[in-house]
Amino acid sequence: MDGYPYEVIRSRRKSISLEISRQGRILVRAPLSMRDAEIARFVSGKEEWIRTHLEKVRQIREQASGQRLTAEEIRALADRAGREIPPRVEMFARKAGVSYGRITIRNQKSRWGSCSSRGNLNFNCLLMLAPPGVTDYVIVHELCHRIEMNHSARFWAEVERVMPDYRVPRKWLRDHGSGIMARMTG
Ligand SMILES: [Zn+2]
Repeated sequence: MDGYPYEVIRSRRKSISLEISRQGRILVRAPLSMRDAEIARFVSGKEEWIRTHLEKVRQIREQASGQRLTAEEIRALADRAGREIPPRVEMFARKAGVSYGRITIRNQKSRWGSCSSRGNLNFNCLLMLAPPGVTDYVIVHELCHRIEMNHSARFWAEVERVMPDYRVPRKWLRDHGSGIMARMTG
């Protein structure tokens, strides 16, 4: 393929994969032993996919550049998150039957939430720009890491037990999450 330039990242892995970064860079992850020609063949077979996704990334960035959040707006979102998230955490923690530590609201470009091994929880203030069910899903997700510190089938079974329709907000986040995150980045 002579169209799109791509970067190859080799590592001890068994299969080849392709991803497009939020900045629109094409990254190919390949096994150490794979030949360049083989990698090029793989990439050229994905040309259609690359074109579609680059266009998507471009649209998201374009949209976001018109809606960049100001420092004041971010502060307001963080204040609101600080008021709205803790009571929801308490409610869902009871439902999940887990304890938790400190709750911290952050403004991050990459994560919606996290849960430390001690049960301290972080949530992204940008969740306030998503539908309410999405915030609840992220809360439930992080709380379920108090039971399973991974994304195994058992973890998802816990999530489903606490929030039976979690797939809807999860999909929303997949489809629209990067658009919201991009409002924070450049
Ligand atoms: Zn997780």
